[in-house]
Amino acid sequence: MSSTPDGDPPEPGEVREELAALARDLRASLGWHRRAGAWSVPGGASPRPVAVEAAPAAGTTTPVPSALTAAAVALDDPPPALRAAVRSLAVIRDELGPCTRCKLHKTRNKIVFGVGPEPATLMFIGEGPGADEDRIGDPFVGKAGELLDKMIEAMGWQRDEVYIANIVKCRPPGNRNPEPDEIAACRPFLDAQIQAVRPRVIVTLGRPAANVVLGVDAPISTLRGRFHDHRGIRLMPTFHPAYLLRTPEKKREAWGDLKQVIAELDRLGVPAPRPPRA
Ligand code: SF4
Repeated sequence: MSSTPDGDPPEPGEVREELAALARDLRASLGWHRRAGAWSVPGGASPRPVAVEAAPAAGTTTPVPSALTAAAVALDDPPPALRAAVRSLAVIRDELGPCTRCKLHKTRNKIVFGVGPEPATLMFIGEGPGADEDRIGDPFVGKAGELLDKMIEAMGWQRDEVYIANIVKCRPPGNRNPEPDEIAACRPFLDAQIQAVRPRVIVTLGRPAANVVLGVDAPISTLRGRFHDHRGIRLMPTFHPAYLLRTPEKKREAWGDLKQVIAELDRLGVPAPRPPRA
């Protein structure tokens, strides 16, 4: 709770007004996240305490999670903390916990959550961890990761300046494609990561990532090479680096996709920190 500018404790009326304003902010924030589906976890119960929904408040159409709202009013300085909690990557990771929401947990070694700053101008989304990632716990660390690093550097960025994640956070056995129930269980966490990272442009790597994020079922050849919209964010599908290692003649097309991303970031006023490769 804040104090007056001269350090005196606030009057009771000021406290009530401040709490009411904070509760309004929290209600709006929770409503936004609920509409975005950020905390819907179809694969199993969330470790976060379940809020009991009350009827919509007078004059609003958004259901109010009454337990969380009551908690916000009861705590000393809750809304900033709670707002940070529902948005921060650290809290999303905490929410994920030692996840057993889908069967991939049975064979994984490490959860590969994602790496990068928050926020990040540029976000890359792949399909799922491979053997190296499963062993180390970071995305794109094997041969495909080395190629992704080169692609990022050619764009004028460094790996630690962009955010990198996958649509599932545990390795599918034998590097098979993730199955629909696994994707559904993990998807809320990817959505929450995108909300936290707030990228200006997303680059999806390979068909599964593009199809899952865009909600389509189409070959990568029909998706790549042009921008799509993902909830107001520009999204460019391109080939997965592992595919490019097997099919190097496609690297030219992939670079063409990335050059469009470079141009789009320029247009958006958030150019690469260093000159991209010509
Ligand atoms: Fe949980 Fe996602 Fe791993 Fe499935 S893939 S166990 S939902 S973290």
